Amino acid sequence: MVAKHKARSVEPPNDPWMELNSPEDAGGYLSIYYSDDMSRLPVRAVTKPGDNKSDPNLETLTYGLFSTCSPRMRSGVVNRRSEYLFFATSRKEGRVLTGYYHIRWFTNGVFEDARDYCLAASAARFIEKPVSLTNVDRYCGTNVSKWFRGMRLLSFDECRKIAMLIDAQPDATTDYLEEIDRLERFNLKHGGYRYIAWKQKDKFSWEHAKQYLIEKKSTTKSKVINSTPSDSWKCSDCGHSVMNKALLKRCPNCGGLGTLSPLLDVGT
Ligand SMILES: [Zn+2]
Repeated sequence: MVAKHKARSVEPPNDPWMELNSPEDAGGYLSIYYSDDMSRLPVRAVTKPGDNKSDPNLETLTYGLFSTCSPRMRSGVVNRRSEYLFFATSRKEGRVLTGYYHIRWFTNGVFEDARDYCLAASAARFIEKPVSLTNVDRYCGTNVSKWFRGMRLLSFDECRKIAMLIDAQPDATTDYLEEIDRLERFNLKHGGYRYIAWKQKDKFSWEHAKQYLIEKKSTTKSKVINSTPSDSWKCSDCGHSVMNKALLKRCPNCGGLGTLSPLLDVGT
């Protein structure tokens, strides 16, 4: 018998998540994210001023649930039913491979735009000694070390080889989580919030995710623009303007979900 609190959980496989049902030979993607300069481990950029990152969200093993990052990659994963999502990021030494998700579920994001999908993984592995993309090419016969923007499509065979490279190292995902927490506490100490630009004090969790999956109320049906030259956004609920590099799913002022849109009249 399922406990009551369990039934109300928004953690997959519960509602609103749907199985991706990846075919046996589904390929995948290599996705680039911003990592934190203040961290030894290449965790997402938690402390980046005015542009805090929530993805890849290792706390929930999701991507796109809390951010509007990489909409093309997210819709690509859903359309191709890709099982593997690899992650790479720029460090001093160049781009490096840091880990992967095994994607199993998807659902619609806050913005009911066809491309605002959330992805959830059944497993993940992130490594302590990231592998340069030059070495990934050398070991796996791939072509990922030449610069590309945002994401790169991978064949099933390429995915299998890159996964083996990551599996050869111990799983350091717990260390990544501790590092994310340390950086968040740095933000909390110096800016009063774990995520300053969003006025978010909570850690990311399935409890925190409820508002994004249940209380969302965006009525936007048109294509969502997730960046604007002015980095300014306006909330349709509270009328406040918000400064942030990327479009936020939640208004930092009133907490409205999917209520922000580009503020076009800045400077006029
Ligand atoms: Zn608002």
